[in-house]
Amino acid sequence: MSGLHSIAAAPEWLISERRDTALLEDVLGEPWEVKHCPATRGVPHTDFANRRMAVPSGGSDLSRVVRHHELLHALLSPSHVPEEYIREIGLSPRSVHLAEEIRINSILKENAKGLGLKISAFKDGSEMNEAKNAVASNDLDHAIHLMCASIATGSETSVGRILFAEFPELKKVKKVLKSKMREYWQRNSTYATGVYDDKGMAHAIPRGFVATLGVAQLIEKLWRNDGEDEGEYLDRINSQANNMVKSTTRANPWGSLVFGSVPLTESGNGFLSRSRSASATGRQPRRLHRLISDPDRKVFDRVARKRGGIVVVDGSGSMSLDEEDLKAIVKAASGCTVVVYSFRHEPNEPNIWVVARDGRFVSQDEFPPIGSDNVVDLPALEWGVRQRKDRKDPVIWVSDGQVTGISRYTGKDLDIECAQFIHKHKIIQVKNARGAVEVLSEFARGKTPHSPQFVGDIKVAAKELRLLD
Ligand SMILES: [Zn+2]
Repeated sequence: MSGLHSIAAAPEWLISERRDTALLEDVLGEPWEVKHCPATRGVPHTDFANRRMAVPSGGSDLSRVVRHHELLHALLSPSHVPEEYIREIGLSPRSVHLAEEIRINSILKENAKGLGLKISAFKDGSEMNEAKNAVASNDLDHAIHLMCASIATGSETSVGRILFAEFPELKKVKKVLKSKMREYWQRNSTYATGVYDDKGMAHAIPRGFVATLGVAQLIEKLWRNDGEDEGEYLDRINSQANNMVKSTTRANPWGSLVFGSVPLTESGNGFLSRSRSASATGRQPRRLHRLISDPDRKVFDRVARKRGGIVVVDGSGSMSLDEEDLKAIVKAASGCTVVVYSFRHEPNEPNIWVVARDGRFVSQDEFPPIGSDNVVDLPALEWGVRQRKDRKDPVIWVSDGQVTGISRYTGKDLDIECAQFIHKHKIIQVKNARGAVEVLSEFARGKTPHSPQFVGDIKVAAKELRLLD
């Protein structure tokens, strides 16, 4: 294998980006054997178990498309999907395989321009002959297979033309399938290679593959069509697909909150003090100098009403928050509840701490251990919203917008969830301690800071969801 070719297909580079631990343990570190093969359909493959890949060499459009297809498998496909698992959720290996091909081809097509690939090269004529055979033998089952396999490849239109002439209902079925696929993929993170959990079945299955399982269910339903009336059939497929999309409750990617406690021993005289402002009425005339200087005679102290704002602080490593930052927030957040979170990996180890509440706050020597992972971003925000005493109380989220789930899972779906939550509860996201201090001082001056506000990737997601005004 020449140097050039090993660069053209270097699965171990891609796999090193992956987060599924089963794969990392079994496969990473072992060298891959990349063989060259003809670009004929069915020959190129990626074999995780034996760390083998067969791809066509050379710079032709077809070779390049096929090579990228296999490399995408190495990057995104599960290393192993136990057959019992597939059957348990009512699927067959062939529908799962087909659905995964659709996912990989769709991703390839979506990125073709950037990669300089010609998707139209992705046909060798054999699919046209197969389509003609399916028509000649009136084999609907095979026709469905070919229709699915052609999606997002160069032969989608030509294969469709042959099949739809004989099976006109397939055209509508394909439309349903594609629109459901899009809907399904928007709700799941098609590219995600993170995993849900460190235990159990899910541990071998990258998150993006969940989208594949959804599409496989649709295909499976197409195959189970038992000669019912076309209209009824389409209605049924449509409503089943709708229900499936609705009922697919994906596993919760967020960790659970475990509160640790730090003593809130400090009060008024430290760096946090109740805010006093001059007032014309009151019991204690303390500001006698104002009798001379202030035309409104504001000689009395008025203690500002304590407001019930909540500040939720991301204490993860990416924030590189130090004690001074926390101190500044706590000081500006007079009377607010301030909570800081950062996930550490021992089970039941605390990951969130209340550092200020009701005018009392933690002393500098008792600051909680922060600087690890995120994992509980959304649960911490949910907790923060529940602490509101009044709907007008601001909830401020100090976060750079880099959120993660269990096992350092990062996916757009997490950003979307956070963006939707911020929007719904009018949360003010600020990117650092300074931003929090600014918003808090605005609030202390009796102004209402603009809400909702978004930062970083959460802002990107909010933009895409059209949540920005
Ligand atoms: Zn493939």
